[in-house]
Amino acid sequence: MLSKAKTRWAMTQLYDLIPDAKGALIADSPFQLLIAVMLSAQATDVSVNKVTPQLFEHFPTPASFAAADLTAIEADIRSIGLYHNKAKHIRTCCQQLITDFGGEVPQTHAELEQLAGVGRKTANVVLGDAFNVPSFAVDTHVSRIAKRLTISAENASVRQIETDFQTKLPQKEWVQAHHTLILFGRQVCTARNPKCNQCPLLSICPAGQRILQERG
Ligand code: SF4
Repeated sequence: MLSKAKTRWAMTQLYDLIPDAKGALIADSPFQLLIAVMLSAQATDVSVNKVTPQLFEHFPTPASFAAADLTAIEADIRSIGLYHNKAKHIRTCCQQLITDFGGEVPQTHAELEQLAGVGRKTANVVLGDAFNVPSFAVDTHVSRIAKRLTISAENASVRQIETDFQTKLPQKEWVQAHHTLILFGRQVCTARNPKCNQCPLLSICPAGQRILQERG
């Protein structure tokens, strides 16, 4: 497994390679970010950003979503994958925000994860990006990179990967590391044909060395 020191070294290389990485979802408030992150499951940030301006114009508050017909919410998010379930979750989530949290987005994992359609990853993104609470969200890119670099074991669960990064990186880096790894996964350490021969982490990456050997 990659040591704490080498994990930190790897992240400094990635901060240099991809400076100031940020989330790409457009949102003006914690509430809008929560809805945007819910929509982004199995959908691209670009596709979410295309539908949210009109969605938030039609439904500017938790109360407006809570009182809406599902078909009206669906009409605005129809181009997003799983839109039927997402509309249902968003409406129930907004009803919970009103009844349980005074219409505000809560700021703890436990409370966020009580909301319909909100899992650990969504809670981590909202906490980190909307409230500056140190948190580390694991998505498919982070998971792949963690295993390739042996930051986490090959069979590690999402929760274990989160713990591995939190143990190996200083708390103040967690949010930045998450965003940096996502862009690194999209641009360099892609699922297929990763650009290992251009990667600054090749010297410490068993998967990259194996991939290059196989390519000859
Ligand atoms: Fe990913 Fe290849 Fe870099 Fe390893 S060397 S981190 S597999 S791009």
